[in-house]
Amino acid sequence: MTKKERYKKVIEWFEAQMPLPKSELHYENPFQLLIATILAAQCTDKRVNIITPPLFRAFPTPEVLAASNPETIFEYIKTATYPNSKAKHLVGMAQKLVADHGGKVPPTIDALQTLPGVGKKTANVVASVAFDVPALAVDTHVFRVSNRIGLTNSSKNPLETERELTQYIPKRLWSVAHHWLILHGRYVCTARKPKCESCGLLPFCERNGF
Ligand code: SF4
Repeated sequence: MTKKERYKKVIEWFEAQMPLPKSELHYENPFQLLIATILAAQCTDKRVNIITPPLFRAFPTPEVLAASNPETIFEYIKTATYPNSKAKHLVGMAQKLVADHGGKVPPTIDALQTLPGVGKKTANVVASVAFDVPALAVDTHVFRVSNRIGLTNSSKNPLETERELTQYIPKRLWSVAHHWLILHGRYVCTARKPKCESCGLLPFCERNGF
C-alpha cells in the first residue's frame, strides 16, 4: 500500500466513524480553553475537568487571574501534574494577556506561543479549537498512533510528525484529524496494549503488516 493510499483509507475510515470529533476538555470560552490546555500538558483531560470548575469560578477573567499569585493558584491545581510550574505559567499567561492583548486571548499561533506555558502544541490546539485556525497539534497520542499506522513512520519528533501529517491531510481536516488521532490513541490504539483485534484501522495499519 502506498502512503497516499494509506492516508486515503485512514481518512475515509475516520470521516465515517467520527464525523464531528470534539475536545474532551470542558470550557466555555477561549480563556478557559487556554487554561485547560495548559493544565492538560502531560495530564489527563479527566483530571483537568475535575480541577477546572472551581478554578474557573474563582478566576473568571484574565484580569482576576493576573491579580492572583502562583501560591494561590497552586491550591486549586495541586492534583494536576507539575502544579508548581503550571501555577506560575497560568498567572504569567494572564498577566501577559492583560498587558499585551487587552485581556483577550490572541487568535494566532505565533501570538499564543509568546504566552508563558504555551508551546507549539498548546498554541495549535487553542488556535484551531477556539478560532478555527487550520492547525494539527501533535501530542503523545497523535505521535504514537501516526507512527503505528504508518502515516509518519520516519518522524522522530512531534514537529516532523506535524510536517508529514499536514503534507498529506487536506488543510480543512487538520483540526479534526488532531481529535481523530487523539481519541483513537486514548481508547483503541493505547500506549501499552493497542486493541488491534477490534480496531477498524487494522486493514490499513503498517504495524500489523499492511
Ligand atoms: S491496528 Fe492496532 S496498532 Fe494499528 S491503529 Fe489499530 S490499534 Fe493501533
